[in-house]
Amino acid sequence: MDWTRGCTIGQGSSATVSLATSRHSGDKFAVKSAEMSHSEFLQREQKIFSVLSSPHIVSYMGHDITSENNKLVYNLLMEYVPGGTIIDAIRSRGGQVDESIIRNYTRGMVKGLDYLHSLGLVHCDIKGRNILVGEDGPKIADFGCARWANPAGASVATIGGTPMFMAPEVARGEEQGFACDVWALGCTIIEMATGGSAPWPNAADAVTVLYQIAYCNELPEIPGFLSDQAKHFLERCLRRDPTERWTASQLLKHSFLGEEEEEKVLINFSSSTKQVQGSTSFSPTSILDQDVWNSFGESENSGSLDQNPSFENSSDDQRIRRLSLFSGDPKWSWDDKTWIAVRGNDCDESNSIEDDAEAVGS
Ligand code: ATP
Repeated sequence: MDWTRGCTIGQGSSATVSLATSRHSGDKFAVKSAEMSHSEFLQREQKIFSVLSSPHIVSYMGHDITSENNKLVYNLLMEYVPGGTIIDAIRSRGGQVDESIIRNYTRGMVKGLDYLHSLGLVHCDIKGRNILVGEDGPKIADFGCARWANPAGASVATIGGTPMFMAPEVARGEEQGFACDVWALGCTIIEMATGGSAPWPNAADAVTVLYQIAYCNELPEIPGFLSDQAKHFLERCLRRDPTERWTASQLLKHSFLGEEEEEKVLINFSSSTKQVQGSTSFSPTSILDQDVWNSFGESENSGSLDQNPSFENSSDDQRIRRLSLFSGDPKWSWDDKTWIAVRGNDCDESNSIEDDAEAVGS
């Protein structure tokens, strides 16, 4: 497909996301791009993303390689979801929304997770920043950390994700199965309810939060103003023992999610993404640098952190410190500055993208 790159609409740890326009049809879509020499993770994401098809997942449209500024660029083409992230949408309403909106977003997320888990896929990086708001509800995005689970449901690949949203068993480096997505869902509901605050607001740094999650036998604080139904739902997501957490299909039947008819009520996504600049909340955005996790084992099949001999022999202290510091230059992010700067690169869709875009396409 011939297409033209437009403005930047997102910047993650591994790639840049741009708006794009098809030269043939004029249709808009999103392109996640990385320089070919640094596109290993994007190519891995493409392989997983390409087999997915669900109204609750951002739609995959293809991939290609372009030449831009004398560099080869790997591109992942996907549906453009115009409403920004669920956190952007909630902040655009002043950071406090009616529980019915949280319920509707949650229902879409659980349906998306149920779909992924039924395929045997663990997302591994569920958080508000990875849930986009489409016209017909929320859509799960960013499969950069996703992996296929083994038959028992526990992933044996290297562990990854965003520390603030990690389940205890993941923070301890034990396993990363379906249940870790359910824990992260619980953290995301708290994030929504608090207008984008982190699920562990008192953690000063990455090491502290990993210790707290892994070994302190604590739970994220469930906001007191939520209904009993919402609290009950959250309590089923946030069980420290992964075998006691409800599955996505069990959660779909929970009374908090209500009746199907409510599905489209109050999902408002218009013009939300440009209003985040004044926000002071600090929900973290970055995944743990993949190098941190990969440094424990090069191969996807090399097993969990515990199966790496050097890791296995570590004390808990060493283990947590290595999780957070091993790469030497971890991409921890505890505030929104990076994202605000990117969002500040105003993407006015009313302007012709062709005006300042660099022509690309295969
Ligand atoms: P992370 O560091 O969180 O892993 P990443 O490099 O994997 O990020 P994504 O999370 O996929 O990148 O995308 C970054 C941001 O780009 C998203 O938070 C969102 O704001 C925007 N974005 C991504 N995909 C789309 C899309 N299909 N439509 C609209 N915006 C998108």
